[in-house]
Amino acid sequence: MTAPRRPGATRAAATIALESFVPRAGRRYARERNFDYGPSDRHNVSVLSPYIRHRLLLEEDVLAAVLDEHGLSDAQKFVEELFWRTYFKGWLEHHPEVWDSYFSDVAAVVRRLDGDTAACERYNEAVAGNTGIDCFDAWATELAETGYLHNHARMWFASIWIYTLELPWQLGADLFIRHLLDGDPASNTLGWRWVCGLHTRGKTYLARVSNITNFTNYRFNPRGRLATSAPPLTEDLSAATRPPTPLPSADPEPTGRFGILVTEEDCSVEHGLLTGRAAAALGLTATKDRSVLPVSPLVYDFAKDAIGDALGRVRDAWGCPVEQGGDDDWADQVLAWAERHRLNKIVTAWAPVGPVAARLPALNARLSDAGIELFRIRRSFDEAAWPYAGRGYFKLKRQIPAVLSAAGLGAAVAEKTVGEYAGASSGGAGMNWSG
Ligand SMILES: Cc1cc2nc3c(=O)[nH]c(=O)nc-3n(C[C@H](O)[C@H](O)[C@H](O)COP(=O)(O)OP(=O)(O)OC[C@H]3O[C@@H](n4cnc5c(N)ncnc54)[C@H](O)[C@@H]3O)c2cc1C
Repeated sequence: MTAPRRPGATRAAATIALESFVPRAGRRYARERNFDYGPSDRHNVSVLSPYIRHRLLLEEDVLAAVLDEHGLSDAQKFVEELFWRTYFKGWLEHHPEVWDSYFSDVAAVVRRLDGDTAACERYNEAVAGNTGIDCFDAWATELAETGYLHNHARMWFASIWIYTLELPWQLGADLFIRHLLDGDPASNTLGWRWVCGLHTRGKTYLARVSNITNFTNYRFNPRGRLATSAPPLTEDLSAATRPPTPLPSADPEPTGRFGILVTEEDCSVEHGLLTGRAAAALGLTATKDRSVLPVSPLVYDFAKDAIGDALGRVRDAWGCPVEQGGDDDWADQVLAWAERHRLNKIVTAWAPVGPVAARLPALNARLSDAGIELFRIRRSFDEAAWPYAGRGYFKLKRQIPAVLSAAGLGAAVAEKTVGEYAGASSGGAGMNWSG
């Protein structure tokens, strides 16, 4: 199979992809989205996730286009799926220790594999797509070659990884985050935790042969090859029951002259983040910190190009000098840039829990030693949604009309009342997926 070309990491390419998907985002999406027809046929889903993950497209951009075409009633399922991303991001902001412990677990599990020949062999076979389970092997290959998997395939893959191959969930999540172009600390970690009963405590996801056969349009039939039960995993941390910690507060936009630091967490900083214009912009990546193991070049290049594209737009929109650095030693790079442009205030878009956010405290300390202030600015969409994301999804789901109104999308919401959403919210805490 020839590797398909990776999608262009630009806002222009993202906008074209959005425009082409919008007509399919209504009731048709609700009916067909669960089918995985294979890498050459993605007509029933958007494949917008790499753009949304890097904020080459903002949630507001996607919602505005979809609601304008379909209204909330017809696009309800698509809107709710998009809000799963918002929910997971917000949930992890309230439970940052879950990312920290996942990350250190990966390093520990990788070390343990060295001493466990059987597990090491199963792991290598799974990664290479060499298990003999037809569907799983095809998805492992697709993941490595394209950087994308359909949502249903992610669920089946994770379930087979944990319950059939009996591999640690953290290693599967790590494989995903190193290869998915949309690899995201929140959606990925919490997606895996959901499958093994750590997110919605005790509720697991079992990949079933009939479900795979039907929803892959009979491309696969792993009869007799899959585990038949999915007992929930347990952990000491018990994050699912721990009360959410309050959201850390963001900074106000500074007055006067400032520079902007662009990261892979927000590649549309010239859209709706600030009222003022930056005097200079610097783009830096932290992509290699997504894992202790090497990140796929596809992923690395997507993030680097997305930042490059963002810098080009910032230069055109604000007329300021821009430059792009690398992964290494952020503090040295930022201090040298700040000195060149005589900056004593630096703004950056809020980085949600993950590798970029993990670098900011050390950067802030070095900047503050040099008399430079760092301002972390949260978008109003996140500000409106995240306070409802600390516990189960349905608390946020009830607030979707209010969040849309806060994002300036109130007109499209008028046709569906908050009450209707509240009424639709009584279906338990699991993800409303078909499997
Ligand atoms: C084990 C596992 C790991 C996952 N890892 C990631 C990840 O690293 N990054 C990521 O963006 N998504 C992740 N997801 C969620 C989901 O599978 C992808 O967002 C979706 O498949 C992307 O394809 P799409 O853009 O065609 O989706 P569409 O069906 O077109 O959905 C539109 C958008 O809504 C959001 N979305 C849809 N479903 C979900 C969901 N269940 N959770 C969160 N957001 C959703 C995405 O931003 C997506 O682009 C994971 C799911 C599972 C089960």
